[in-house]
Amino acid sequence: MTGIDICVRNARLRRRGDALVDVAIAGGRIVALGPALDVTAREEIDADGNLVTESYVNPHLHLCKVWTLPMMAEEALKSYRAPGMARTASAIDLASKVKASYDASWIIPNARRAVALAALYGSTHIRAFADVDAKARLEGIKAVLAVREEFRGIVDLQVVAFAQDGLARERGADRLMRDAMALGADVVGGIPWIEAGAADAQAHVGFCFDLAAQFGKDVSMLLDDVGDPNMRTLEMMAAEAVRRGWQGRALAHHCRAMALYPQPVFAELVGLLRSARVSVVSDPHTGPLHARVRELMDAGINVCLGQDDICDAYYPFGRNSMPEVAFLAAHLLWMTARDEIETLYDMITVAPARAMNIADFGLAVGAAAHLVVLDQRDVVDVLRFHAPPRCVISHGRCVDLARMRELAGLHA
Ligand SMILES: [Zn+2]
Repeated sequence: MTGIDICVRNARLRRRGDALVDVAIAGGRIVALGPALDVTAREEIDADGNLVTESYVNPHLHLCKVWTLPMMAEEALKSYRAPGMARTASAIDLASKVKASYDASWIIPNARRAVALAALYGSTHIRAFADVDAKARLEGIKAVLAVREEFRGIVDLQVVAFAQDGLARERGADRLMRDAMALGADVVGGIPWIEAGAADAQAHVGFCFDLAAQFGKDVSMLLDDVGDPNMRTLEMMAAEAVRRGWQGRALAHHCRAMALYPQPVFAELVGLLRSARVSVVSDPHTGPLHARVRELMDAGINVCLGQDDICDAYYPFGRNSMPEVAFLAAHLLWMTARDEIETLYDMITVAPARAMNIADFGLAVGAAAHLVVLDQRDVVDVLRFHAPPRCVISHGRCVDLARMRELAGLHA
């Protein structure tokens, strides 16, 4: 076989025992997979018997807000942490003050640093939220769209135009959301639970689906991110997805209130999620309540993990490392048995790829070549060290990790 761009030799694949294989890549795709492939490649990578897996996928990152925590007092962070998550809405209001000084010129370098870190830690795809409202105007979306172009083919960004401060409660946000989609955003982002009352929440959901239909895009919504068992906007979104024929195209984020739902309410919700083919993104490290991850998965719902925040009003840490997110989730969700750790690894690779409708994602012949070559032999060690991969392959090309370190502001 000729015309091979990269051949990864002696790769250990997940769930395949001790057998080592070679992975041949050409034209951005995996073209052959098997022991001791008889191919000549332009570039050979010896995995030395270590793991080679799909690259990481982050379905939830507030990219316009990264590294803004030093720009504000810590009241927002403290408010978000209030007992029972009862003051989330006021935390969002406090956090939104920083947006008065939003300007693409300083958001771009922050976002660039975060995306370079993502590449360094093996992520090739991110669903990136940018706030769209009267304070942020279109500065966040312009910045994130610029960074999308800069990293195209290295880290693919699905840019979400996100009505963070609401639509009914934020005058003019509807017009700005339309403008953001016209500028080239990839996904319509909503947050219906933040509106005052069910009627406004329903109108918010309806507006987002109208916009999604108009531009032919998927929907992503932050739902029920509050300690209130009566908050039911996940149900609203799923029902709307079914009504509109948008099954598999509406992604649910946070959904923390479901932790407080009585069992019959939860059971009914699960049925609805199944018919709407809604996937759920959980970020258990950024709040004390979280979606009922294991119960959802047991019921056949696709669940994945997201980074959520990096050094902003909601979370002070984060370095865009999905194995680090999985490591935190292992503790917070108490998923520490070997098969559960394998599941967590799925939740940062194939599960979010499915949730984000990324085409041809997977480690198989014919799939797009998005891979990481690691320095560990099993996923428990990958989570233990959550160190940068030895090599990151995106669209069939090795990512220049030295360049990514430089862009991330890390010294050699
Ligand atoms: Zn979030």
